[in-house]
Amino acid sequence: MIKERYQRVLLLCFFGLVGVYMFNLPSFLVIILLGITAGYFSYQEAKERESIEKVENARLHTQIQNVTFQADIRQEQLAALISNLPMPLILLDRNGEVLLFNDSFAEFRQSKEQRRLTYVHNDFERPVYRFIFDATLFEREIRKTIVVHEKEYEAYSEPLFKNNQFSGCVIVFQDITKIKRQEALQKQFIADASHELKTPISAIKGMVEILNREGFNDEEIRKDFLEQIEYENSRLERIVYDLLQLSRLSSEQLVMKRESCDVTQIIDASIASLSYKANKKGLQIQTNYENKEPIFVDPGQMQIVINNLISNAITYSDHGVITVSTLYRGDSYVIEVKDEGRGISKEDQERIFERFYRTDKARSRVSGGSGLGLSIVKSVLDAHNAQLVIESEVDKGSSFQIWIKN
Ligand code: ADP
Repeated sequence: MIKERYQRVLLLCFFGLVGVYMFNLPSFLVIILLGITAGYFSYQEAKERESIEKVENARLHTQIQNVTFQADIRQEQLAALISNLPMPLILLDRNGEVLLFNDSFAEFRQSKEQRRLTYVHNDFERPVYRFIFDATLFEREIRKTIVVHEKEYEAYSEPLFKNNQFSGCVIVFQDITKIKRQEALQKQFIADASHELKTPISAIKGMVEILNREGFNDEEIRKDFLEQIEYENSRLERIVYDLLQLSRLSSEQLVMKRESCDVTQIIDASIASLSYKANKKGLQIQTNYENKEPIFVDPGQMQIVINNLISNAITYSDHGVITVSTLYRGDSYVIEVKDEGRGISKEDQERIFERFYRTDKARSRVSGGSGLGLSIVKSVLDAHNAQLVIESEVDKGSSFQIWIKN
C-alpha cells in the first residue's frame, strides 16, 4: 500500500513537472490539478479500504457470533448436564453464597422457596449444612459420609482457587446406600456361610474326639457316631457344592448354554434320582405332562432347578402326593411342582429365596439341606428370564411354578 502511494506521488510530480516545463502551464493550475488527482486517488483508496474493512468486519462479526453461539451452547449443555446430574451438587463462592445447585440437590433443602441462599441458611438438612459449613470454613478438600433421609452419601468438597486465593468450592454428594447395603449383605453372607460350615465341622470334631478317647469301646455309640459323621460330611459337601454353584451363577460370567430340549425328560431323570428319598418317606410322585413342546433352556441348569424343587417337595412333606406337571398358560410354558406338605406362610414366602433362610431352622438342618437351594433356583431362572410363582398354604401344601415365555 505504502509502495503504491509512493509510486503515485512520484508519478504526479513527474506529470506536474511535464505540465510546467513542456506545456508552460501556470504552476498554480498544475498544483490544483495535482491536488484534485491526489484527492481522487485518496478517495478511491479510502473507499477501497472501507469496503475491505466492511468485509473484514462482517467476517469478524460472524466469527464472534459463532463463538458466542458455541459458548452459549456449551453453557447450556453444561447447565443441562449439571442440572440432570443424578448426584446432588452445589457451588459456593468464598463467602459461602450459593452460586448454583442442581435438581438433585433440592432433596437436601427443607423448603422449596426460591431465594438467595448462603451456607448459614437453615434451609439445608442438618448434616448437609454442617458439611457445607466445614467446606467453606476450612478451604480445603474434605470427604465425609453423611446420612440424609435414611440414605448414606459420600460428601466431597473440592476447593477452587483464583490467583492463589480461595474463591469458593464445589461439593458433590454420592449416594452410597446401595453399595453399603451390598457390603452388609456380603458380610452377612460370609458370616452365615461360616456358621453353616462350622456347625457340621464342630459336630464331626466332637464325635471324633469321643471316639478317640482312651478306653472308649461302646460299639453301639461308635456305629451311631460314624453314621452321623457320614451324614455331617455329606451335608458339608452339599453346602460347599451349593456355595460354588451360587458363586458361579452370581459371577455373571456364567453363560446359559441354551438349546431346544424336552423338559419332561429332565423331570423324569430328577424323579428317578429322587425316588429312593421319596419311597423312604412313603411319598408318591406322579407326573402330568399336558405340554410336551420342546423349550429353549440350559438343560444342565434346568436339571438343577427341577431337582431342587422336587427334593424340597419331598423334604417338606410327611404325607400326600407330589405332582410334577407341564402346562400351557397363554404364551408361557409352565412347569409345576406341587406337594401336599407343610406349606409356607405368606411372610416366609417373601424370604425363602434369601441365602440360608429357613422357615424352620432345626428341621431344615436335620433334612440335610444347605439353605441355598431356592437361591440357586432363583438365580438360574433369572438368567433364563423365567418367573417363579409360589402358591402355598400352611399345612395344606405348596405349588412352585416356573413360567417360561416361549
Ligand atoms: P433348604 O436347603 O433348607 O431346603 P432351600 O433354599 O431349598 O433350602 O429352601 C429354603 C426354605 O424354604 C426351606 O428351609 C423351607 O423352610 C422352605 N421350603 C422350600 N420348599 C418348600 C416346600 N416345598 N414346602 C415347604 N417349605 C419349603
